[in-house]
This record gives sequence, structure tokens and C-alpha cells, in this order.
Amino acid sequence: MTFRLFDAPLREPSQFVGFAGNTIDRQSENRADDSVEKALADTRARLLPMHGGRLYLKLSDGNFDPWFDVAGSELLQPSFEQGVLLGVSDSGPVLAVPVGLDPEQLPETIKAIDYRSVYMQGLIDEAAAGALAQGAALLAWHASHRFCSKCGHESQMRAGGYKRHCPNCSTEHFPRTDPVAIMLTATPEKCLLGRGRHFGPGMYSALAGFIEPGETIEAAVRRETLEEAGIRLGRVVYHASQPWPFPYSLMIGCFGEPLNDDIQADLNELEDCRWFFRDEVRSMLERTHKDNLVTPPKGAIAHHLIRAWVDSE
Ligand SMILES: [Zn+2]
Repeated sequence: MTFRLFDAPLREPSQFVGFAGNTIDRQSENRADDSVEKALADTRARLLPMHGGRLYLKLSDGNFDPWFDVAGSELLQPSFEQGVLLGVSDSGPVLAVPVGLDPEQLPETIKAIDYRSVYMQGLIDEAAAGALAQGAALLAWHASHRFCSKCGHESQMRAGGYKRHCPNCSTEHFPRTDPVAIMLTATPEKCLLGRGRHFGPGMYSALAGFIEPGETIEAAVRRETLEEAGIRLGRVVYHASQPWPFPYSLMIGCFGEPLNDDIQADLNELEDCRWFFRDEVRSMLERTHKDNLVTPPKGAIAHHLIRAWVDSE
């Protein structure tokens, strides 16, 4: 049996997906309870202001800049006590901070744009998008986990935002990441793509679903493919992963080998699901399909799964 580690590419496929360009040194061993306070006192501190699923960006000469210094963020009404320390970059500490100013009241030079549009339109560079994924996931977790799940008492942020502590029962709560399996079922000739009910016009993608407690990644890939498409899988291999801050998932991309041909799509989940031959999929990637069918955009891990299969020998 070959040992796959030494055959693996030096730049793994995960490095090419959207939100993967995070360059922050997280310093996870050094998260003291006063680390946010100390970081905010550092004149080099840079902030990503966020609120309600939107990132606040400075607009100048058609370019977007998501980075604010502490003083520059004041007009956005930041809640510094709810800020989280993402880590340290070459130019100092990096934080994500929830802000209170209504987007309607922003000056012309600042825009509040939802995370998905920021990512889809490539408004910020890859390092900033990586920081956005980290900050957005953490702030969303804090916003929905204010109270202790054991005793119901209000909990307090600790460790720079990487923990919540319950002062009543002393339970500690840690940020969660929800694993989602996303899989391209393929033979050398054809692959299985589905169309979700909320997808944009003509879009087909790889199937996906949450990994459940007590399940391996491979078992989840097989279960979801069978449930959604009626296709049983043989071999399953991992390809790449992607941080996905909606609100705090990790997409785990795999390939699966089909054992049967006859699709039985779960029409509660999917509008359509069918086999596509390689040439047709290539035209979908290149936006030249005769019926204007398309695959997901470049930053999406589904795009990379599909592209890797189309380009395979
Ligand atoms: Zn408690």
C-alpha cells in the first residue's frame, strides 16, 4: 500500500479555497483573560468592525479597506468589551469587534456589506478574508451563547474570546465549529451534481450535509449521498477543507465512488440532481454552457472539487 503523505502536493488543495488565506499568528497558548484589553491599548492594533452579518469597510477611490485603528473605529460605536482577539499579525494585534452604528447612518466613505457579498465579490484580500472568517465565526458564537447551557446564568467572555466562563456554576464553554461534509460523487466519465432550492439561476453543485455526532467523515459522505441522491458509495477520499463562517462551519470536501447509477433525488432537499459528463461540466466551469448552467464560483470548495475532477487524467 502506498503511503499517501509523500505523494501529496506541497501546496495542499485547501490553500486555494476562499477564506483559507488567514496569516494571523493565533498564539493560542497565550490567551490571557486581559488579552483583548492589552491588544486594544497597543497603538498598532487593527480591528475588523462587524455587525449583523456585515463587515464595515472604508471606501476610497473604489477600493475597500476593512482595517480600522481603535480611534478610527469610534464613530461606529464599537463594543470593545465584546471584542475578540484573533491573534497577532506582522503589524500588531488583530481583533474583531461588534459595532452598534446602524448601517443607514454611515458616512459615504464607510460601507456595511454582508460577509457573503464581501467574499463573492472579492472586495478584500485573502488574508483579510481569512481574518473575517475567524472573527465572524467567533462573534456569531458569542452572540448566540450568552447564557450558560448548564445552569442558564449569563456567562462571561474569557481568554480573548476563545472561551466563556459561567460565574454561577464555573462551567467553561468553548467556541464550536460545525463540520459539514461536501462531496463530489464521480467516475472517470461523469459526476453527480444537485441543485438546491435556494440556488441562483442555473447553478449546480456538489451535495453537502452536516456530519452528525458519532459519525466519521466518510460515513457522513456515504449517508448524505444515499439520502439526497439514492446513490451508494464505495471508496471515499478526503480532498480539502474550507472555513465557512455561516455561521461557524468547516466544510470538508471529499470524493466518492458510486456503486449504482439510478438516482433517486430527495426532492425536499433538492430541486434536481443528475449525472453530468466531463465536457458539460467543463463548460459550466468556464461559463460557456449552452443552457447557461454554472458551477459555484472560484472561492467555493465545491468549485475546487469539481475543477480537480474535470482536470484529472
Ligand atoms: Zn452555569
